[in-house]
Amino acid sequence: MVSDVNIWLERLASLHKCQLRKAAVEEGIQLVHLEILHYLSISNKYSNTAQAMSEYLGQSKGSMSQSLKYIEEAGHIERRRCKKDGRMQRIYLTPEGRACYQRMEQSLLPVLPGDEKTVHTLKALLMNWQERNSLKGFGQCKSCQYSQALGGGKFRCDLTGEALLQSDIQKICYEHVFAGNHVVRIENTGQSLPE
Ligand code: SF4
Repeated sequence: MVSDVNIWLERLASLHKCQLRKAAVEEGIQLVHLEILHYLSISNKYSNTAQAMSEYLGQSKGSMSQSLKYIEEAGHIERRRCKKDGRMQRIYLTPEGRACYQRMEQSLLPVLPGDEKTVHTLKALLMNWQERNSLKGFGQCKSCQYSQALGGGKFRCDLTGEALLQSDIQKICYEHVFAGNHVVRIENTGQSLPE
């Protein structure tokens, strides 16, 4: 039997998809192209690769490659070789791609009010679903086991050893692993990452 949670989640998901499709049609692009532009606008510096996008959007490698080629030729994205790993290419929105996305953004999901309890419930649902399907990734630093607050508004990723800016910790990350209690414990400072 389908639970009430499933019913409402499915309705939210279908409404979101309809809105995305409508916005893409108005801009003269396909839904998957809009999804890629959206992903690039919310993902962090470790997550802007074709592989991460394929996993996030559930696309095969071949389909993703075709879609990226199309929006690259349309001038919406550009690829640059990764400065740390020359074998890897990273993908960025161009000014044209950002402008295109911002035009469509007006018709997408409104900014939803979310209190701490609602966000916690949604995260718990996601964590449970991902665990059951042996999936991981695509969360914000504030719920990741690798996040460390250093005090003074500074943060570090213990996986990469790199400093994180406030703007980084709001985005989603391919490498994200839920901290045990969804709330990052801050050693020696008694602080939590800001929600
Ligand atoms: S702390 Fe976690 S979510 Fe944040 S950058 Fe590091 S691995 Fe990614």
